[in-house]
Amino acid sequence: AELPADPDLTNEVRQVKNTLFSYVNPVKPSNPKLIHASEEVAELVGISKDEIHSEEFLNIFSGKEILPESQPYAMCYAGHQFGNWAGQLGDGRAINLTEVENNNQFYTLQLKGAGKTPYSRTADGLAVLRSSIREYLCAEAMYHLGVPTTRSLSLVLSGDQVLRDVLYNGNPAYEKGAIVCRVAPSFIRFGSFEMLTARNELKNLKHFVEYTIQHYFPEIKGEPKEQYLQFFQKVADTTREMILHWQRVGFVHGVMNTDNMSVHGITIDYGPYGWLENYDPDWTPNTTDRQNRRYRFGNQPQVAQWNLFQLANALYPLINEAAPLEKILDSFIIEFESEYKEMFLSKLGLFTSSEADDKIIKGLEEILQLSETDMTIFFRNLSKIKKDDSVEQAFEKVEYAFYIPEEIKGNVLDAWQKWFAVYLKRLNSELLSDEERILKMNQINPKYVLRNYMAQLAIDAADKEDYSLVDELFQLLKNPYDEQPEFEKWFAKRPDWARTKVGCSM
Ligand code: AMP
Ligand code: MG
Ligand code: MG
Repeated sequence: AELPADPDLTNEVRQVKNTLFSYVNPVKPSNPKLIHASEEVAELVGISKDEIHSEEFLNIFSGKEILPESQPYAMCYAGHQFGNWAGQLGDGRAINLTEVENNNQFYTLQLKGAGKTPYSRTADGLAVLRSSIREYLCAEAMYHLGVPTTRSLSLVLSGDQVLRDVLYNGNPAYEKGAIVCRVAPSFIRFGSFEMLTARNELKNLKHFVEYTIQHYFPEIKGEPKEQYLQFFQKVADTTREMILHWQRVGFVHGVMNTDNMSVHGITIDYGPYGWLENYDPDWTPNTTDRQNRRYRFGNQPQVAQWNLFQLANALYPLINEAAPLEKILDSFIIEFESEYKEMFLSKLGLFTSSEADDKIIKGLEEILQLSETDMTIFFRNLSKIKKDDSVEQAFEKVEYAFYIPEEIKGNVLDAWQKWFAVYLKRLNSELLSDEERILKMNQINPKYVLRNYMAQLAIDAADKEDYSLVDELFQLLKNPYDEQPEFEKWFAKRPDWARTKVGCSM
């Protein structure tokens, strides 16, 4: 492979061939200010609590200075966007600062919003405060929910203005610029491999796959072809686990393009993501996807499989045999379905199995949609039900989850009562006591998630230089499964003003 060009001499937007990255330094922010940092993530990468508040920390994680003896770089990758081949994309506003090894784990530290790279295409390489707060908070919230994800180290204000929109009156709408440092084993995506195959750079493809395996999947051994297949199997397995968690907590990614799919099976790139409030499998937070709804909640498992199919195509030239790849792809959905069933039953507090289970699940998925029902509140409150409750007593315990209580009558009420009668009977066949079951259910059904309106309130305050809500949500979401009486106000349905939820992309 050729060496990437000198960043000081060449940082123009271009096609970058025969190599997977370009050296590029972050742009220097004019007046950086630390808004928030995660002590936990700092410790992971070997930074002490005290160092977080140093000038050096601010300088490095705002891009003002680079670490001694480091060479920051942007990665080149391609991808399928909304089902179409998009060609070279690459890190248009992300720059990897360095990689650290701590306690036998690798961590790549990446700035997002630190300026243009050769992959910026027509955009500015920057990020606004609003989307940076959303990414910073959500990644940590996901981690504490037990969902595989990139982590957030720091959130910094750049002191520069960023132009995202022009108002109807023709005036430019400037917003505050910000930079997030995110952390992951690596930022290698499905699209990293797709690019090499699309360009027929097969020698580099082989190098890169082998590098990825040796570096990040050292447990994979054997003949080369065997290793490539094991690698694909591993990516399929971890991706499946990740999606299962998304469906469990009601997370909708919103932009599952293959350039946003990590080979580590971690959630990456928090753009217009959202959380299901009323349970609606057709919902997507992505306003640019409202027509096709490709990335709707209920379609995430199928999209993951489609994306894995693209990765399989990318690896195919190294394997030259379709059958073993197809086998892995076929079993993806079969395994997902059985794991989904087990997961869904566990949300209901059902830890044994019975023939009635499919009907109980399907039935509930349907009635949840008869009238807007808050997913998080419904499942959380379900654990309050006791085995010897009557249908009426059980139903009362979940009523708070309904957005439009007046609608719960007639056929709808009938359907609920029928379902609860079956559910209570089924609950009585469980072996756990009520007390044991509530403990288990409350580890599966979170009490607190980062609802869109919560992030929005933190954004509005932060825009006025009040960062207390960013910190409050950060602390709250560290323990999403615990009762936190001081934070009870966040266990609430979306307020009416937040009803038409608009995602946030840039
Ligand atoms: P996304 O859909 O956010 O994953 O972004 C798709 C592609 O657009 C990636 O290559 C990003 O690096 C690039 N991109 C998004 N926003 C910007 C920006 N403000 N400046 C430069 N590139 C961007
Ligand atoms: Mg992306
Ligand atoms: Mg993005």
